[in-house]
Amino acid sequence: MSVVRCQGCGTENAPGAAYCSGCARPLSAAAQQAVADQRVAHTATGIRWSAVVVTGLIVLIIVVVVVLVVTGTVVI
Ligand SMILES: [Zn+2]
Repeated sequence: MSVVRCQGCGTENAPGAAYCSGCARPLSAAAQQAVADQRVAHTATGIRWSAVVVTGLIVLIIVVVVVLVVTGTVVI
Protein backbone atom coordinates (compact mmCIF):
# COMPACT_ATOMS: atom_id res chain seq x y z
CA MET A 1 0.00 0.00 0.00
CA SER A 2 1.30 3.44 -0.88
CA VAL A 3 0.09 6.92 -0.11
CA VAL A 4 -2.96 7.98 -2.08
CA ARG A 5 -2.63 11.30 -3.87
CA CYS A 6 -5.92 13.18 -4.18
CA GLN A 7 -6.91 13.82 -7.79
CA GLY A 8 -8.70 16.99 -6.70
CA CYS A 9 -6.17 18.90 -4.60
CA GLY A 10 -2.99 16.78 -4.70
CA THR A 11 -2.87 16.09 -0.97
CA GLU A 12 -1.12 12.83 -0.06
CA ASN A 13 -3.34 10.74 2.18
CA ALA A 14 -2.63 7.67 4.31
CA PRO A 15 -2.83 4.29 2.57
CA GLY A 16 -6.39 3.03 2.55
CA ALA A 17 -7.90 6.45 3.31
CA ALA A 18 -11.42 6.68 1.95
CA TYR A 19 -11.57 10.47 1.84
CA CYS A 20 -9.00 13.19 1.22
CA SER A 21 -7.83 14.95 4.38
CA GLY A 22 -7.39 18.13 2.33
CA CYS A 23 -10.71 18.47 0.51
CA ALA A 24 -12.85 15.52 1.72
CA ARG A 25 -13.06 14.16 -1.84
CA PRO A 26 -13.67 10.37 -2.00
CA LEU A 27 -10.34 8.67 -2.77
CA SER A 28 -11.06 4.95 -3.07
CA ALA A 29 -13.13 3.40 -5.83
CA ALA A 30 -15.51 2.04 -3.18
CA ALA A 31 -16.06 5.49 -1.66
CA GLN A 32 -16.59 7.03 -5.10
CA GLN A 33 -19.07 4.24 -5.90
CA ALA A 34 -20.92 4.94 -2.63
CA VAL A 35 -21.26 8.61 -3.58
CA ALA A 36 -22.50 7.62 -7.05
CA ASP A 37 -24.99 5.17 -5.51
CA GLN A 38 -26.33 7.93 -3.25
CA ARG A 39 -26.88 10.16 -6.28
CA VAL A 40 -28.70 7.34 -8.10
CA ALA A 41 -30.84 6.68 -5.02
CA HIS A 42 -31.74 10.37 -4.80
CA THR A 43 -32.64 10.45 -8.51
CA ALA A 44 -34.70 7.27 -8.23
CA THR A 45 -36.60 8.72 -5.26
CA GLY A 46 -37.31 11.87 -7.26
CA ILE A 47 -38.61 9.88 -10.22
CA ARG A 48 -40.80 7.77 -7.91
CA TRP A 49 -42.28 10.86 -6.26
CA SER A 50 -43.07 12.58 -9.55
CA ALA A 51 -44.70 9.33 -10.75
CA VAL A 52 -46.88 9.30 -7.62
CA VAL A 53 -47.84 12.95 -8.14
CA VAL A 54 -48.66 12.43 -11.85
CA THR A 55 -50.69 9.28 -11.08
CA GLY A 56 -52.55 11.13 -8.33
CA LEU A 57 -53.37 14.03 -10.69
CA ILE A 58 -54.64 11.66 -13.40
CA VAL A 59 -56.83 9.81 -10.88
CA LEU A 60 -58.12 13.15 -9.55
CA ILE A 61 -59.02 14.35 -13.09
CA ILE A 62 -60.81 11.05 -13.85
CA VAL A 63 -62.76 11.26 -10.57
CA VAL A 64 -63.75 14.89 -11.25
CA VAL A 65 -64.90 14.04 -14.81
CA VAL A 66 -66.89 11.00 -13.60
CA VAL A 67 -68.52 13.06 -10.83
CA LEU A 68 -69.43 15.85 -13.30
CA VAL A 69 -70.88 13.34 -15.79
CA VAL A 70 -72.82 11.45 -13.08
CA THR A 71 -74.25 14.64 -11.60
CA GLY A 72 -75.23 15.83 -15.11
CA THR A 73 -73.04 18.93 -15.04
CA VAL A 74 -71.29 17.82 -18.21
CA VAL A 75 -73.23 16.02 -20.93
CA ILE A 76 -71.11 13.88 -23.26
ZN1 LIG B 1 -8.14 16.49 -1.92
